[in-house]
Amino acid sequence: MTNYNDSAYGVPSVSVPPAGAAPVAVPPVLAAENLHKSYGPARALAGVSFAVAPGESVAIMGASGSGKTTLLHALAGIIVPDAGSVSFHSIAGAVRVSELGEKERSRLRRESFGFVFQQGLLLPELTAVENVALPLMMAGYPRREAEGRAMHWLHLLGLAGLETRRIGELSGGQAQRVAIARAQVTGATVIFADEPTGALDSTTGDGVMSALLDSTVGQGNTLVVVTHDETVASRCSRTIRMRDGMLQHDASRQGKVPQQPTETQFLGSGWSQQ
Ligand code: ADP
Ligand code: MG
Repeated sequence: MTNYNDSAYGVPSVSVPPAGAAPVAVPPVLAAENLHKSYGPARALAGVSFAVAPGESVAIMGASGSGKTTLLHALAGIIVPDAGSVSFHSIAGAVRVSELGEKERSRLRRESFGFVFQQGLLLPELTAVENVALPLMMAGYPRREAEGRAMHWLHLLGLAGLETRRIGELSGGQAQRVAIARAQVTGATVIFADEPTGALDSTTGDGVMSALLDSTVGQGNTLVVVTHDETVASRCSRTIRMRDGMLQHDASRQGKVPQQPTETQFLGSGWSQQ
């Protein structure tokens, strides 16, 4: 019988500082400086600067075409900006994502970041647990350990009992939770989600958003989520609004302060520049 507890699978946990403890000054987990990106005549990013603190949940809002996805992709090292820089800070130090080559960016994405899209992009012929275990198996983990970790995340996301269902046998909300589990299973410290509730009805979307928040900031990690939905954004600790490739507005929500970052927060990420 496999034991799916946290310590066995190295899932980071958050230790809450004692009451009255002085806040610790930590660097941002992500910092974007004066990002520009054009596609021919289309200016997708026209000078965006902002930083994301560890433990924050940041909603990126704005009209269609305002540059939200481009910003997410630049932060995550999926694309390289034409000008400006993105840096990522982890326990291994700081790296300039925008200066890394394709191979290094791919490694960073694989080891430190997780991605959730509007459509889960899951493999329909595989079961839930196989889909979640896949990134670990591709990283060389033995099947038993990969599936053990996958089980842990599926349980955390409220999918106990559905592990051996194929994706086509799940509801849209359940499939999206599988996609969230898959994004986190490798120990990502930052999860990027692009319209993760965009294909769901509002009740299901609300449940998926809860699962996304609990499993990211609830574990001491960081969430950057692009959304059209004010309800989704209202559940995040901060909302930034884009317009014509620029940051129009940046507001934190009172009472939804980011979690105190801890050292354990970065332990899921073994990324280093060597
Ligand atoms: P949003 O996610 O806010 O809808 P995007 O970041 O996808 O906006 O797009 C911003 C602008 O850049 C739009 O004008 C879009 O058409 C353009 N754009 C984005 N990606 C590409 C691409 N791969 N090729 C050409 N144009 C693109
Ligand atoms: Mg988009």
